[in-house]
Amino acid sequence: MEHKMPRLPYAHNALAPRMSEETLEYHFDRHVQTYVDNLNRLVVNTPYADMPVEEIICKASGPIFNNAAQVWNHTFFFETLSPTPHPMTSVLKELILQQYGSVDAFKEQLLNTAVGIFGSGWAWLSINDRCELIVSGESNAGNPLTKELTPLLTIDVWEHAYYIDYRNKRADYVKAVWELIDWNKVEERMQRSSCNIYI
Ligand code: MN
Repeated sequence: MEHKMPRLPYAHNALAPRMSEETLEYHFDRHVQTYVDNLNRLVVNTPYADMPVEEIICKASGPIFNNAAQVWNHTFFFETLSPTPHPMTSVLKELILQQYGSVDAFKEQLLNTAVGIFGSGWAWLSINDRCELIVSGESNAGNPLTKELTPLLTIDVWEHAYYIDYRNKRADYVKAVWELIDWNKVEERMQRSSCNIYI
């Protein structure tokens, strides 16, 4: 199966000034296209040729894993953001209050995790089948799907994500991404997870 470029769900200039048009042109149009092209090239004549990208992520390693995960992670990341983000929903907020005490404490843990990743990687919020929220940092293309978790949101902390707009100031970029998170998207993902909080 041919892996296709995801669709950017807003205009390239829609997230400015927090994320500039130029960043979207490089980060989405060029970097993501490279991962899609690499993945399509690498899976030819392998057992992964007809697998959906989630299955490749859970079964492959090396360059095939790296490029498949980067396609999935970027699609997920850009879908999480919105120029008109919906505020945090009550179900998620309740879960956060139970586990972290306050939204601010949760935000601090997520953002500190993102800032603290050494080198390239991704900060994740996931949920397990016991409805526990998990904040984690992954290096390179790492993805919580390989740990049987359901990802709810992610923050890309590769330098290509922030160097045009924020240069070396990763913490400023991470704070800006927080403001762009559409919590409706996070809620939808929680509803589709194996956690039975809604039953
Ligand atoms: Mn990236």
